[in-house]
Amino acid sequence: MKALLLVDIQNGFCPGGNLAVAHGDEVVPVANRLIADGGYDVITASQDWHPANHGSFASQHPGKKPFDMGELSGQPQVMWPDHCVQGTPDAEFHPDLDIDAVDYIQQKGENPAVDSYSAFRDNDHAALTGLAGYLRAQQVTELDVCGLATDYCVKFSALDAVDMLPGVKVRFVEDASRGIDPEGIKAAIAEMRAKGVEIVKSADILAD
Ligand SMILES: [Zn+2]
Repeated sequence: MKALLLVDIQNGFCPGGNLAVAHGDEVVPVANRLIADGGYDVITASQDWHPANHGSFASQHPGKKPFDMGELSGQPQVMWPDHCVQGTPDAEFHPDLDIDAVDYIQQKGENPAVDSYSAFRDNDHAALTGLAGYLRAQQVTELDVCGLATDYCVKFSALDAVDMLPGVKVRFVEDASRGIDPEGIKAAIAEMRAKGVEIVKSADILAD
């Protein structure tokens, strides 16, 4: 069984959003082609879904500005601008994404005391989201991961997929993803490759 994981393709991470990734909206048509013609049996999507007082927000830490470093759940934490607050347009999927084709939506980042970059578990690894269990129940053997942002939520999701879904072949779809920091993107791709994640382009998948 082949599965696709679309990471955080939400207004908040697209131009005009509160934590916009440069050209983030360019992943939408690529994602839609993968959904339509990628040959997937299962389509999943993650959705960053924070309470308004989430601890990853600089606004919750007196004296901190967005993109400062701080601490959360005992770990270094980038202080983000308020983003993807539950029930706001910022948290909605990009309006052009073919969300009707998605079989399973995994919300994450709901606990104000810890961030959840990965679609699979919180950053402190204490709580699982349920996505790994769902994919196991679907007997998934191949998982393609893409979306926003390459150097954060996409990378951590791909690395956790390798850890938490033994035997599943994990691939990162480069042109269906965009990242925040150019150096961070390069490092993320190197880290994924070192962990055994295959780096592919959507054209490779669509040609199969
Ligand atoms: Zn977030």
